[in-house]
Amino acid sequence: QPVLAVVGRPNVGKSTLVNRILGRRAAVVEDVPGVTRDRVAYDATWSGRRFTLVDTGGWEPDAKGLAARVSAQAQSALATADAVLFVVDATVGATDADEAVARVLHRSGRPVVLAANKVDDQRLEADTAALWGLGLGEPYPVSALHGRGSGDLLDAVLAALPEAPPERFEQEDGPRRVALVGRPNVGKSSLLNRLAGEERSLVHDVAGTTRDPVDELVTVGGEPWLFIDTAGLRRRVGQASGAEYYSSLRTAAALEAAEVAIVLLDADEPLTEQDQRVVQMVVDAGRAVVLAFNKWDLLDEDRRLTLEKEILRDLGRVAWAPRVNISARTGRATDKLAPALRTSLESWGTRIPTGRLNSWLGEVVAATPPPPRGGKIPKILFATQAGVRPPRFVIFATGFLEPAYRRFLERRLREDFGFVGSPVEISIRLRE
Ligand code: GDP
Repeated sequence: QPVLAVVGRPNVGKSTLVNRILGRRAAVVEDVPGVTRDRVAYDATWSGRRFTLVDTGGWEPDAKGLAARVSAQAQSALATADAVLFVVDATVGATDADEAVARVLHRSGRPVVLAANKVDDQRLEADTAALWGLGLGEPYPVSALHGRGSGDLLDAVLAALPEAPPERFEQEDGPRRVALVGRPNVGKSSLLNRLAGEERSLVHDVAGTTRDPVDELVTVGGEPWLFIDTAGLRRRVGQASGAEYYSSLRTAAALEAAEVAIVLLDADEPLTEQDQRVVQMVVDAGRAVVLAFNKWDLLDEDRRLTLEKEILRDLGRVAWAPRVNISARTGRATDKLAPALRTSLESWGTRIPTGRLNSWLGEVVAATPPPPRGGKIPKILFATQAGVRPPRFVIFATGFLEPAYRRFLERRLREDFGFVGSPVEISIRLRE
């Protein structure tokens, strides 16, 4: 989601305006004890659009003059923002500090919305005209205190912000979409037959073309699920030459259309590279995952032990996925599939409120700061969740974060928030 930075010198009413934008609930939003106290991030919504609002509030007292400090603040805000809301006190007019900020903003070419604050009634609106002189376009008269003009201001803010990229999947009504994937002979069609039982019903291609019916509604755990490309599973493409290539194309296509994948593995055979490739495809596709170990009816004690070792060795990259041990032949534990699918899908759609995310990040980073690079410890500024399905996070930092440290953050994120059964993406955006 796009980031709006709020910039302005002290006493222009910046905090009041931030609270106004966040609405009444803002009072409850605790200031998070982040590592850096000079900015706080919040979730904001206006006209149904969400954005992250970053308040670059704090002032570190130093020897520099006010103008220098405000423009430094603006500079650093710009690095992480998609647009800037610049707050000026209309009753005072543009000061030297305001002009210094305006120059920084202007040079950046970043979209700027200019708020002329403290315009508590109409008579004061004339004062705002002078602010055209800042060269940042139309000043929007507002009264942060009384709310006057804030609707128009927010409309202008939305117009300045880039559209959030559409979620990869909109939450749709109707059955959740499942891809049943795995190398040939692990028991995919057997499982499908077991699950479908008598309740099988073919779903014709929605586009209404002459294509084969490819997807199938299957009731699992009392609920219908849309299994993708079951025709492909039944046609047994697996036997022909070049089979692996075609079956991986089919797998990729099924994953593209699905929300969650059941990765079926043959528990009675050693895990293979092909199994690992399937797992990797699911993770790369960003789908929720359930691992199902089939043919459990064949397992003896010895195989059980070696299997556990193989899992540790080969499936570490999906150690977070729920696991069910089933038998398509006997029906063993197939009732465990639906709850596992639901758990993974729930993680996949999880959104962590920005305030909570940042108080978590503050604590983690304070306890374990990133390792220094070139003598400097990179500062971690704040984080925002960029999307769901799967959950994607962006962390803003002042310096390069080692891959090991990123993995550490991901591990802690999982430990503290769960995400059972869902991949999680973390990207780092650098300031400067
Ligand atoms: P697919 O290629 O993944 O669709 O695998 P199939 O469903 O065709 O199964 C491959 C072979 O494994 C067949 O001979 C099945 O009868 C057998 N099979 C499938 N599931 C089980 C199971 O749970 N237990 C046992 N013992 N055999 C199974």
